[in-house]
Amino acid sequence: MNTLTADLIQFLNESPCNFLAVKNLADRLDRAGFAPLDMADRWDLKPGDRRYVIKNSSAIFAFVVGTDPLAGFRIISAHSDSPGFRIKPNAEIVNEGGVVTLNTEVYGGPILYTWFDRPLSISGRVILRGDSPLHPVTRLVNFYRPLLTIPHLAIHYNRSVNDGNPISPQRDMLPVLGRVADKAQGKGLLTRMVADQLGVTPDQILDYDLTLYDTTPACLFGLNNEFISSGRIDDLEMAHAAVSALTASVSDKSDTAPTRVMAIFDNEETGSGTKQGAASPILSNILRRLCDDDFSLYSRAVASSFMISADNGHALHPNYTSKQDPTNHPIPGDGPVVKINANCKYMTDAHSAAIFRAICDDAGVNCQVFVNHSDTAGGSTLGNILTSQIELNGVDMGAPQWAMHSCRETAAVADHLSTVSAFTRFYDLN
Ligand code: ZN
Repeated sequence: MNTLTADLIQFLNESPCNFLAVKNLADRLDRAGFAPLDMADRWDLKPGDRRYVIKNSSAIFAFVVGTDPLAGFRIISAHSDSPGFRIKPNAEIVNEGGVVTLNTEVYGGPILYTWFDRPLSISGRVILRGDSPLHPVTRLVNFYRPLLTIPHLAIHYNRSVNDGNPISPQRDMLPVLGRVADKAQGKGLLTRMVADQLGVTPDQILDYDLTLYDTTPACLFGLNNEFISSGRIDDLEMAHAAVSALTASVSDKSDTAPTRVMAIFDNEETGSGTKQGAASPILSNILRRLCDDDFSLYSRAVASSFMISADNGHALHPNYTSKQDPTNHPIPGDGPVVKINANCKYMTDAHSAAIFRAICDDAGVNCQVFVNHSDTAGGSTLGNILTSQIELNGVDMGAPQWAMHSCRETAAVADHLSTVSAFTRFYDLN
């Protein structure tokens, strides 16, 4: 296995939730000489500086400051979040016999039945008491080991289960955590577990954002190990491609170097409408500060900028070819896909698609096209939401994958390598 693929698999395994994904992106940036910056501080940047800003512990924005603001921004964006289950407050339910289930809420649009009967665990962020009520302390937590499962009802109780089986998230999807001796032991159980895992006392914990994940590690499979099987390929594969390209791009000492930017947003799966999401002004605020808050300079820089909005797309499914557009068939392994939509659900237009194709050509990478079957609505992504904040020229693209929003998705190894090549070329272009 080549180093890049091995690193993607490690990243997927170590990033079971948005918070840990951002931490692992920051670790990769740290190793490549980037240093953290705070939105609350005064910025004093010079050409060549490598910095990153973390927002809400779940979104991260990294940049290499260019030598000429008018050369614009080279931006690659992706998202840190994935559909799944978030644990509700007061989650413990002690059932007959002391069997504890946890009350959960669906996050985004997961394919629900792919979550049954898997060894699940918990990760997320925990907020601890700080020096003042306004300054609590954030810690990340991961239990690593299998802790829970969502057991499916046996077929003997529902003989028609294979004919279609409507699922109620509230009734059917609560995970089993274990057994306790009595109801009293169930109360506050999760908080005690989290406290124990972090080495703090339960009364130090003020709140948490915890989600479930499948503990089965990511792996390669297929005749020639051509596929990757993992949770969260949408969109951690593109986040990994972006950070790999940014850290691999060579430093441009010329006096016309653009500022290279990586923007990994949170909450794409719920419409991006948070302070750390693509619908917020966070990226435009950062770009303005990179222009010393000079609006005219910012505006001129945006005019010569280009953004690759990277969010995985759908590969042609061999069992459902009729679902896809009749003439455009992205094949896993044949290269990244440009996403095109007549009703402008994607930011791609002929001009920006042409630029991305030319970048792929330059990088020696094949490029494919995705359009929806005209009878289906399709999904949305980051690009268009961002253009409501910044009038950027850019393209929506992604690696083609199967089973988007399943607990376990499939992508092709070759597409990750070709995407990283195209992204690196994009950052390095003069
Ligand atoms: Zn996505």
